Amino acid sequence: MISVEHLTKRYGDFTAVDDLTFEINEGHVYGFLGPNGAGKSTTMNIMTGCLSATEGHVRIDGYDIFEEPNKAKKLIGYLPEQPPLYLNETPLEYLRFVGEAKGLRGAELKKQIEQVIHQTRIEDVKNRRISSLSKGYRQRVGIAQALLGNPKVIILDEPTVGLDPIQIIEIRDLVKELGQTHTVIFSSHILSEVQAICDQVLIIAKGKLIAFDKPENLEKRLLAPNEIIITSDATAEETKEILAGIDHIIDTNMEEKDTKIIEVHIRTDHDNIYEISRAIFFAFAAKGKALLEMSLKKANLEDIFIELTEKSDDTEILENGTVMETTKSEVSDV
Ligand code: ADP
Ligand code: MG
Repeated sequence: MISVEHLTKRYGDFTAVDDLTFEINEGHVYGFLGPNGAGKSTTMNIMTGCLSATEGHVRIDGYDIFEEPNKAKKLIGYLPEQPPLYLNETPLEYLRFVGEAKGLRGAELKKQIEQVIHQTRIEDVKNRRISSLSKGYRQRVGIAQALLGNPKVIILDEPTVGLDPIQIIEIRDLVKELGQTHTVIFSSHILSEVQAICDQVLIIAKGKLIAFDKPENLEKRLLAPNEIIITSDATAEETKEILAGIDHIIDTNMEEKDTKIIEVHIRTDHDNIYEISRAIFFAFAAKGKALLEMSLKKANLEDIFIELTEKSDDTEILENGTVMETTKSEVSDV
């Protein structure tokens, strides 16, 4: 459906998009996830033919976006980060204008406008000035214009930014719904949002693609519990000595709560965290020291996201797009 090959965008000697290569298949919802400044908007602007590339290719259903822009663009509906809404117009007027610009006329134009108004649920406000609409409704009008011309692919750049929690849920539901009839690509810097909506996630940081997988796989691979938190009546010295005898401990972090109580965060690279928990339990018992508390902690998605994006300089991805094993051990270093 969409193939992006070695896409690079440089501004002077700053590289905003750095050698991106990936394939988008029909009928899925893809999430571009990355912190601000990662290069999401730049990539989307290039994919939709709104911005030139320094190097690389983008093909939409085989049409090169730079060589056959008209054919390629017909297949895409785009809601940019700052949609060019005309505030003095009504949604109806605006949609008519956009529809005509997309080459729709007469009965077909009328039918499609009705359709997208219905799909994005803006019937109630279609005759009000856009300037009087809430951000949530404006975003719907933006999505409605993207749907005109019945494009196969809908690309939405951070559609939930600036919305209140209820509007966010409504837009997410709309995106999910669109995913049933279109290929949808949307960007976000919010991990949980991408997880909730997408069936494929592309994590972008510093212009590079650092992971491309199903959310559940990313979670499975990256979110296994890797930290044991204990509270004990041993001293820091005794704790250090006890833990030194246990394999697969990759990091410890101690905090003396008071003279007799210590809290220790223990990170492990063992596959089975319960084995390590058991070993810790008996090691303390053997020294006559009590474990007063013990709990397991998963790396949370935010940690992983920060880790992946901060370490993006030395993270590599496999040819099939999944994160390399080295990333896993780096991530468990959180
Ligand atoms: P995102 O959408 O992920 O927040 P952008 O694609 O907007 O990121 O920006 C990626 C990087 O490129 C940022 O560091 C931004 O400052 C830079 N950038 C974007 N547009 C320009 C431009 N016209 N000139 C110079 N730098 C730019
Ligand atoms: Mg952006």
